Order: sequence, then C-alpha cells, then structure tokens
Amino acid sequence: MSLKYCHWIILLAFCLTAKAQTPPSATNKSEPPSQVGLELTPAKNLGVTIPRAALGQDFLLSGSSIPQAVTATSHGLAGKIVRFELFHDAVDMYESTQGQLVTTDLPARRLLTSFPIIEQNETRVVIDFNKGMHRVFTASWIGGGAFNPSASARTLEVSQSRVFEVKRDGRRLVVRQSVQVRDRQTDPNLEERFEIRYFLSPYTQVAIPNKEHGPSDARYVGYFEVAPQVEPISGRQTTKIARFNINEPIRFYYSANTPAEYEEAVREGILYWNRAFGKEVIKADKAPAGVTAPDAAHNIVQWVPYDSATFAYADALVDPISGATQHGQAYITSVFAFSSKARVRELLRLVRSTLDHKDGKSTNSNLGIDFLQSSSLCSGDPIQFAQQFAAGLEAVLAVDQLDDSGVLRLSQDYVRKVVAHEIGHVLGLRHNFASSLTGTLTHRELDDWFRQYLNNSITNNYNNHLTSESVMDYTPFKSRLFIGHLIHTSKEALPYDKAAIQWGYLDQTTVIDRKTIFATDQDTAVYGDVRTFDYGPDPIVGAYANIGDLVRNLPQSVIEAFIRAKAPRDPRDRVPLSNVNLSHVTFANAFATEFAQILQWFKSSTRSLKVENGFDYIGDLNRKEIQVAHWKRLNEQTERIGGIDRLLFSSLPVDLKLEFKGEPKEVATNEKIDAKKLNETLAKLLETPVYTNWIGLDARTNTFTKDEKEIILNRGRKLFGEFEKEIVKRAVQTLEKAQRDLGVKANGIVGEDDIIAQLEKRTAELAKVVIMSRNDEDRRRGKVDKSTVDVVDFRYDLETRLTAARSLADDIGSFKGWAADAKGDLHKQLREEVDASLNIQNFREFNEAMLSRSLRDWYLDQQSVIGLLPAKKGPVAPSNPR
Ligand SMILES: [Zn+2]
Repeated sequence: MSLKYCHWIILLAFCLTAKAQTPPSATNKSEPPSQVGLELTPAKNLGVTIPRAALGQDFLLSGSSIPQAVTATSHGLAGKIVRFELFHDAVDMYESTQGQLVTTDLPARRLLTSFPIIEQNETRVVIDFNKGMHRVFTASWIGGGAFNPSASARTLEVSQSRVFEVKRDGRRLVVRQSVQVRDRQTDPNLEERFEIRYFLSPYTQVAIPNKEHGPSDARYVGYFEVAPQVEPISGRQTTKIARFNINEPIRFYYSANTPAEYEEAVREGILYWNRAFGKEVIKADKAPAGVTAPDAAHNIVQWVPYDSATFAYADALVDPISGATQHGQAYITSVFAFSSKARVRELLRLVRSTLDHKDGKSTNSNLGIDFLQSSSLCSGDPIQFAQQFAAGLEAVLAVDQLDDSGVLRLSQDYVRKVVAHEIGHVLGLRHNFASSLTGTLTHRELDDWFRQYLNNSITNNYNNHLTSESVMDYTPFKSRLFIGHLIHTSKEALPYDKAAIQWGYLDQTTVIDRKTIFATDQDTAVYGDVRTFDYGPDPIVGAYANIGDLVRNLPQSVIEAFIRAKAPRDPRDRVPLSNVNLSHVTFANAFATEFAQILQWFKSSTRSLKVENGFDYIGDLNRKEIQVAHWKRLNEQTERIGGIDRLLFSSLPVDLKLEFKGEPKEVATNEKIDAKKLNETLAKLLETPVYTNWIGLDARTNTFTKDEKEIILNRGRKLFGEFEKEIVKRAVQTLEKAQRDLGVKANGIVGEDDIIAQLEKRTAELAKVVIMSRNDEDRRRGKVDKSTVDVVDFRYDLETRLTAARSLADDIGSFKGWAADAKGDLHKQLREEVDASLNIQNFREFNEAMLSRSLRDWYLDQQSVIGLLPAKKGPVAPSNPR
C-alpha cells in the first residue's frame, strides 16, 4: 500500500507513414484540412465506420486502461497520431512519423495494425475494430529523456478481447474493449483483465506556443514533457512541456459521488491554482451525474469510495506534437476521509500492516502488470510514507479533547492538500521534492502549531511561516495539514507553485531569477537532502528530530496495536490480546534509517542540493569549494544540535561518557533510549483518559480489563528490551559502513580535534562497550579439564560484537591507523578476560580441547572477535639512528 501513486502517462507522438504516398500535412500543421464529416461513427455489431474521406487523414488515438480488479481507476496509455489506409483486404493503421524522422525524403512506414473489413461502399468502410486491436500499446513515459523511438513500440499481447460498446461523444468515437493481456516478459502465464477505453478523433493540433525547458531552466522548475521529437534536417531534439491552452478556462469537475462534507475541500484544492495564475483560469464544478473518469470531454477529480486504498494519483492525455493537455483526471480515494476517531484507527491499522510486511509491495490495483507500475510517477517509498503517516495518526489519537468534528476538520485539510497536489500534476507540474528544504518553521514550532491546531486554538504566531514552498512535495503529516490549512485560510499560492505556473503558462522568469530550489523524482537518488516525507531545511536536524519522535511514540504504538486487536471494524477479525505480534525490528529499522541519514553527511560523495544551489555550475573546477561549503554546513548543523555526542550517541542505550555543547533550540532534546522508562510511560499512558475509555475501529467505546493491561505491559517490556539491543546492533552496523572523508577532502589534512575526530573517538568507545559488556544473568556452565566453571556471558550477541569490531576497520576511518590503539587495547583486554573466565592461567599448557562443548563454542566465538582486533605493535626503532 502506498499513499500516493500519481501516474502520468503521456500520449506519445506517432504518425502515419502513409506519407510516402500522401504528401505530408506535417509541413503545414497550422492549417489542417477541413475535418467536417471525417468523424468515425459506430456501425452495427459494434463495428466502426470510417468515411472514405477520412482515409489518409490524421487522427488522435488515445486510450486508458482500467483494471478490472479491486478498483476500476484508469491509467492513460500512450497516445498516437494515426492514419487509416485502405487496401483490398484490410484497413491498415499507421502511426505518424512526424517528429520521428530527420528527413521526409526517405519513405518510412510505421504499421500499427490491420483491421478486417466488414463491409464497404463508395462513401464508407466498416472495420472490425476488435480483431485489429489485438495488442495494447504500452508506451508511456514521463518527462524528457533522450529520443527513443523504440520506447513507443512496446506492446502487451491480447489473448482474448471483446468490444462491448462503440459510441459517439461529440467529435470523438469512444470504443470500450475488455481484454485479457499477457506480459511476455515478466509472467507469461498471467492473464490480467482490463478494460481498454479508446478515444479516436480527427486530429487538429491545438494552437499553443511551443515551450521547452531551456538548458538552465530545468534546474529550477519542472514540467512533464511529451516525447522528444527530432527536427527535420538539423536533427535537433525538441521536448515540449505539457500544459493546457488557457485561452479558454480550464474546467475541472469533481465527481458526483464526492461526499457533501468534502465538496468544499475538493473545490478549494482545485481552485488553489488560480492564485498561482494570478487570475481566474480554473473553474470547479460538480460533474453531471453519470460522468466518471476517465472521460474524454471532462477533467475529473474522481472520488473513489474505496477505504483500503491509500493512494491518489493523477493522469492526463497530452497532444504528442504540441504538448497541449487534452484532459486529465485525478483519483482521490475515500481513505483520506478519516472523518472520525474510529476511521483514524482503521487507517492506522492499514498503515501499520504495511510496516509489518516489510517488503513494502504496493497493493494498488494494477498488480501484476508491470507496464503500469513503471509508468508510476510517484515512486515514494511506501514504508517511509507509512512510518510518518502512522506517527501522525497516532498523534491525532493522543488528543483527548479531539472529537469527531475535530477529526473531520483535519481530514478536510488533508484532502485540500492531496487534491491541490494532484491537480498540480494535471496542470503539468512534476514533483518538487526539494521544496521541504525551504520550510521556515522549526520542528519545535511545527509541533507547537500542530498542538494548537488539534485543539482548534491557532494563534497567528506562524502566519508568515511556511513548511514548504510547494504543494508538489510529499510532505509529512503535520506539514501536510499545515499546507491544507493554509489553502483554506490564505489567499496566496505557495511561492514555488506560483512561480512555476507563471513560468510555464505566462512566460515569467521569477522561478529562474530566484534560483528556486527544485528537484524531482530522479533526484532523490542523487542528493542526500532531496527526500520524500522529510521536514525542514536541515537534513541532519531533521533526522535527529525523527529519531526523537520515533522513540517518544513507541509506547502509544504498542497500545494502538492492542486496540486494533480487541476492537476491529468487524468483530470476526478480533485477535486475542495474547496473540498480538509486535516487532522490535520494524521500529529499529526506522531508527537505523535516520541514523544512516545523519552519518551519510560525513562522506564526501554525498551531494546536497541546498549547498549546490549556491553555485553557478557543479564540476571539476569548483569541487573543492563545494566540499568546503559542505563541511561548513555539516559543522553548523552539528553545532545546533549540541555537538557530535548529542547528535549521534545520546540516544543510544549504552553508557558512554558524553560531552554536550548546549541544548538544541529548534528540536526537542532526545533522551537515551531506555526500556524501563518506555515501560513506565506505557503504564502511565494506559491510565490516561485517552486510553481508559477509547473508541475502537468499530466506532464503539471500549476499555481494557486489568488482565489485558497486564498482557500489554508484559508484551511492552519484552518489546522495549529487544528494541534496546536491536538499536545497538543497528547503530554499530551503520557505523561499520559510515565513511567520513569529508573533513580530509575539505581541509586537505586529518583534523586534530574536529567533529570527525570526536566521532571516531566515540565510535571506538562504543565498540568497546559493545564488545566487553557482560550480562550477569546470562551464564554458561561447563568443564575446563576436570573442574566445573561458570562463565558470565557477554551482553550483546556475537553478530553485534563482530560488527562492533569491524566498525574499527582501518579503511572506514579518516586515516589508516585511526583505531589502531583502540583495537590493540581491546585485543589485550578481551583476551585477558576470556582467559580469566576459564581459569586458563592455571594451566601450564592450555589447549581448547580441554573445554567441554558449550565452553569450547563460547571460547571460539571470543577468538573470532579477538581475531578482528590486532594486537598493538611493539615500539619501532627509528629507521636511521644516530
Ligand atoms: Zn504526486
């Protein structure tokens, strides 16, 4: 399950190659031939009538695929410009070569398919559309790339099909075909069922001026683009952006089934964009009953009453030659309508189940067929989404005063943001995942705002602040509500949204002049600070805050799991509380992600868009300057949290002597993770009003009995204890791989007492604690020679200790010998302790065969740790003594 699937499939350019015989009209596209009487019409027995005058003329063939399982939402298929050509035994359909060939002097024919002729006379030909369309053209892509004619040639095989409706809709012919499709590549035995809805109309290029991203524009703004075309003779590639023609108003219709209590929110999400245009360009109306997406004549915001699908997406059909958007649709599922506490809990159940199935496979309705998956524009990590969403929902449930009307108010703001985001896609805008870097509200201030917001007591303290400069980001829960609330209360569009619309539609250059920070889907793999669902301008501060939130929410997450078990929506799904299955690994994974996020900034190869945005170019000539800027920023952020010790080591559940440099101002201070304290919090929470009388997923008030509370506390104790150990394991695993060459790269030398020196000092101390700590309650009894020995075992498991030893490896540090002394000391200490435990010193000649089985196993484990820790070398004589 993933929350936002925004799919955008753009019609591709195709044209017919019947050009060899018919002189190309492509040379003079602005004056299309008269098209009166060229429309295709339905014939009897679901055939299609082509007037003879229409043969050889351009048609736009577009389509949508509609899965026939779970929810019948649609995905636009790549469109083509086609021509029909009559032969003695069939009517062929060719795709246009416009934009596909460098010259028209050499004839080229791009056959798409042949339709059997049912009947013909002197004015018309009737074809069997179904027999001809025995494949689905799956070409689709999103945004630019290189010119690639073969991308448009991909198809799925149709094993069976039936056209079940052919009708006229204005000048368009709409053909509905149900198909079984086979993907020859991934699972040839899988036959998925789809409806393919084709739209065929005489093609007139919409008169819209061409617009491309200039070489430097793409750094600051991003629109979807149609497939690149090659210009005749020069061979230059042009890639036009997708946008509506705004000489006419753009009308959006929200589907008639939109619940009354969300109509206003949906309208406001749509009309939000008028603020970006600075004038009324967009109109929002309720769709006539019976009109549903996809619809060739309407832009539709389709409400999908499907409570289990936590995603929304948008989709549009674009003229492949001009880039003019023909129509688009956005699907909003009812899951966002969490209009009561019971619904919030239900949603939480869904989200948490995603987290428990760690593979994070999406359960959207296009299962199985990869071609639709690959066309997904929103590649946000569902796990990442679920984590922050679950935390947000739990925060909502933690407020006792919040009643169902309060929850409804929240969900309306949520819907405002979701709709504005999806409409932004339909208008042509790509994601801007960097816009969270522009937030001006600190974590602490956002938390404060959120508390006020939940209690419906917002002051105007934060009026001039933003959590993001765009709705086109994936924002975490609180920030999303902040933006939704802003859409409701403000008259302005967010700065990026406004500047981007003004660039794409009105040729203003503010977005470039301001050097607006912009990054889209593919950039998440390039820049460390281009993340989805992140918050705030400083990634290190953000990750530190996330660790704190995660730990603080843990006790509440435990109780919510038991509520879901005791009071599910349907009583048949009830789970005995003793069977509730919690995973400390899931929570520790979330911690490890954030811990690694912090550590990656010590590595010189990690790129920061925020830093690079300050440079005119990024290249070999200024590499050093950029690294110096990185180093400065890393130090600043570390300083603001209160130094390395606070940033990286203060949360870890181990005893280390730490030195703090003040308290963080912008975020709450993280406490050391402590199983005992977490369990105390859990016990206290169970007695607060929020959890003495709670509303279950079944919308009924309920309580836990004394025995049930006992089960919860016991399970919590076990979970927190394991969580502690898992955190230590994940921390040393992360440190084992954490390269930290930025200081040397930026300064030219290894620092004596900089933040990396401090990091390495503490890493060595942590390794020592992990390798050497014992657990008095865990003993091994066995024999050494003839005497019985009781050995106190080590606290952490062998894997964790081996990892800790490896975290001292030479090649991971700032220089080769960084941990040589620490390793030498540990070598000596561990060896002595092991020997003492087994009384080895009492034997003149010790041999491991003298140990009984369990002790011998233990002894060998210890030798494997010692083996990773070389002994100290003796003093080296000066090479040239005098
Ligand atoms: Zn999106």
